[in-house]
Amino acid sequence: MKIALHDSDRTRFPNLPLMKLSAWHRTQKDTVERFIPLMNDSYDRVYSSKVFSFTAEEPNLPRGVIRGGTGYGIDSDLPDEIEHIMPDYSLYPGFKASLGFTTRGCIRSCPWCVVPGKEGKIHAHAELEEFLRPDCRDVVLMDNNILAHEHGIMQLERSITRNLRIDCNQGLDARLIAADDALAHLLSRVHWLKSIRLACDHKSQMPAVEAAVKAIRRHGNKQYNFSCYVLVQDVDDALERVEFLRTLKVDPFAQPYREPGSKALPAKHLRDFARWVNHKAIFKTVPWTEYRRSAA
Ligand code: SF4
Repeated sequence: MKIALHDSDRTRFPNLPLMKLSAWHRTQKDTVERFIPLMNDSYDRVYSSKVFSFTAEEPNLPRGVIRGGTGYGIDSDLPDEIEHIMPDYSLYPGFKASLGFTTRGCIRSCPWCVVPGKEGKIHAHAELEEFLRPDCRDVVLMDNNILAHEHGIMQLERSITRNLRIDCNQGLDARLIAADDALAHLLSRVHWLKSIRLACDHKSQMPAVEAAVKAIRRHGNKQYNFSCYVLVQDVDDALERVEFLRTLKVDPFAQPYREPGSKALPAKHLRDFARWVNHKAIFKTVPWTEYRRSAA
């Protein structure tokens, strides 16, 4: 069969389900290639995967296309034999790290988040080795709350003994670190690929973020490179969190709120604020009050 894969989001970040579909179809001796609208008549099957609801739909997908992913808003788990296959990394040759989930789900139920509804309670998903490529020690873990499950914690322990470099790109739950000094000690020993990413989506999380950062620094006896996601629903509230992170020497990354499932851009004042935070040359030199006037 001739299989075509369509990455609806077209970001630079790899689409993991498509990498798994590619790997599985290759084991079936199928031909796998990227979807090209002009070649529509030649395909036996087309898969389209979409992570984000706001990316534009491809109008030329054929009738019968198999759609999956949160962006299409449908329940579309892969069968186990595909879900647990080594991804086909050749689909994204510019991406050099390993990529996967060791846990799925979350222990929390933040009202703005799709994870609890889509993935349910946290549970073990895969061993690191399931998706470790042999040619690189860098690993991007997309677990939503890796520290909330013993299995995820074990994978981080194993990454240390295997001398892997880890990026938990969805952020770590500071409340769990603040409550368990053994976790802070573990995180101080992990080899981090980029920064240690936390999240501070609400003012109530500020004490936990401060305690987590200080505990990890104390255990490792060094500053580390910390970053922190900041959800922006109310600018004054987010400003307080951002300035607090600045005093902690933690790099904030602002994420303007978008209604779940919405195709509309976030409100302009939220986008302006996020641009001020995320454009580091501006953030370090121009106060928000001044930037806000010039953006109005
Ligand atoms: S902690 Fe993170 S993954 Fe879990 S529900 Fe909240 S936002 Fe979603």
